[in-house]
Amino acid sequence: MSEEANPFESLQSQIDDAAAYLDVGDDVIERLKHPERVLETNLTIERDDGTLERFKAFRSQFNGDRGPYKGGIRYHPQVSRDEVKALSGWMTYKTAIVDIPLGGGKGGIVVDPDDYSEAELERLTRSFAKEIRPMIGADRDVPAPDVNTGQREMNWIKDTYETLENTTEPGVITGKALDSGGSEGRVEATGRSTVLAAREAFDYLDKDLQGATVAVQGYGNAGWIAAKLIDEMGATVVAASDSSGGIHNPDGFDPVGAKQHKNETGSVVGYDESEEELTNDEVLTLDVDLLIPAALENAIDEDLAKDVNADVVVEAANGPLTPAADDVLEEKDVFIVPDILANAGGVTVSYFEWVQNRQRFYWSEERVNDELETVIVDAFDALVEAYEENDLENPRTAAYVVAIQRVADAFEEAGSWP
Ligand code: GLU
Repeated sequence: MSEEANPFESLQSQIDDAAAYLDVGDDVIERLKHPERVLETNLTIERDDGTLERFKAFRSQFNGDRGPYKGGIRYHPQVSRDEVKALSGWMTYKTAIVDIPLGGGKGGIVVDPDDYSEAELERLTRSFAKEIRPMIGADRDVPAPDVNTGQREMNWIKDTYETLENTTEPGVITGKALDSGGSEGRVEATGRSTVLAAREAFDYLDKDLQGATVAVQGYGNAGWIAAKLIDEMGATVVAASDSSGGIHNPDGFDPVGAKQHKNETGSVVGYDESEEELTNDEVLTLDVDLLIPAALENAIDEDLAKDVNADVVVEAANGPLTPAADDVLEEKDVFIVPDILANAGGVTVSYFEWVQNRQRFYWSEERVNDELETVIVDAFDALVEAYEENDLENPRTAAYVVAIQRVADAFEEAGSWP
């Protein structure tokens, strides 16, 4: 991973690229390049051995012009103020491109969860929930899972909030377990939108997904589900990686078996259907039809981009390409389906979860998946329209043209408030 690219600067340069094609004033663009507010807090919790430890944590509320702030909470040693600000901005434009009535936010705790017991993580999560309680709420700011958080953490946050507020309000957070008010299809949603976006891109480019070769970098919730679903669609997954390294079989392997191997051993490396081991960078530069980066931001920098051999890149991760890498791939005519559309399935089904929570009426998995497909196909069509109308080189800029316009319209329609 490149150390140089600051994700917040990447976000701002993506906004600038699109602003050139928009009829939105510089003063409004300036607003749309900065978060409305960022909470920085220090959480002190008791370790199991009785000692105390302090953790830095953040919640950034980037933009609420189109609805309550929305976005996940990540637990990772690399979490920083600028990373959280960037991720909250990407959420703003993600909810806008898929046209769901929500804004953008993001939170994170600087922690490697592998180093802590479940009881310690519960204390840490509840401490964060207590700290952010005044700023969240079903109509205010609705957190969700992100890197290294999932149903367990969401259930704890919901319980902390409801206990302190003396109410029941499942819509204060999404990504919960089914019995705690979660939605069918939420766990798979990010991987599902990634493959729907890939299918639409291949259709648009007149390429056949049947038999297309696929490399997936990152085998967490988004990456492995995308691998499984794209295999079910008839593509051939030939490579995958996680933080320990990568696997490769030019004839393809069973992505579900690779996940089982990872569950048993901690990594995809060593899976018996693999013919050779690769590094993460080798997976990212493999000669494949489709590359799915599904790990962290800045996975592909300018140098690595020069070696990328894929025809299509569909971003399951947030911010996997630096802006310089984006330019290199644009030169090489690689078609990029940007993160804010490709991985928007997660927040879209979070939106469905929130709707179900508010109505206290729950949908079938089939309904969730059908509605998700409609949302992703409509968003892809809007991207293509902007891409062709403005004669753009990069689909990412097209996505931002659509998304920024929607946020700017909502802001301007609201009028001014001193
Ligand atoms: N963390 C996911 C994302 O980056 C999901 C956010 C949500 O569901 O609110 O899109």
